[in-house]
Amino acid sequence: MLTSLTSLLFPPQCLHCRESLSVPTALCLRCALSISRRLNFSHIDGVPHSFAATYNEISSSIILQAKEENNSAARTLLAELIALGLTDSRSILIPIPSRRAANRSRGYRHATLLAQRAITLAGGNKRQVIDCLQINARIRDQSGLSLQQRMENLDRQVSVKLPRGCQLDSLRIFIVDDLVTSGASAREAIRALRAENIAITGVISACAARPH
Ligand SMILES: [Zn+2]
Repeated sequence: MLTSLTSLLFPPQCLHCRESLSVPTALCLRCALSISRRLNFSHIDGVPHSFAATYNEISSSIILQAKEENNSAARTLLAELIALGLTDSRSILIPIPSRRAANRSRGYRHATLLAQRAITLAGGNKRQVIDCLQINARIRDQSGLSLQQRMENLDRQVSVKLPRGCQLDSLRIFIVDDLVTSGASAREAIRALRAENIAITGVISACAARPH
């Protein structure tokens, strides 16, 4: 009753084009078809990278709504894309961190919520999120920087802080993010984890731009 009343007052709309939908899905058929749901594979610094959707206008608007507006339907859609890459039943997901100031102003950790929801969707009780990466202070905002500037900006900016008593040996460890564009953030996370002798099994992102 409550659901039908809510849908009368707020009929479901496509997250991207705002077309009214007859069923409560995240995207209309046309928008849904424009972001693939097929796993693609590449490598980042020798680490296998899988992603399910290409980066385009539609996936970009979904990411913005999840990241900046805390839109639950947008987050679930991205989590579904990440869950496609969760093929290991025993695994640790390490989210790519946002800047602390961004986490503070948003009031939540976007990539962490995304990884947790992906695990919920994929099921299994042998997967967990360990939020052990942090961006050090003084990093500049990445927008508007060239690839070279991004690499320099990110160089040695991420550090690892494992929870007390946490042992990652013999576990399959994946770095998780909503989007890989240049791959600079993933490379920096890989560097920081390798510096702590943590071997990374793969990078899983919901979307990626090619090439990176
Ligand atoms: Zn649409």
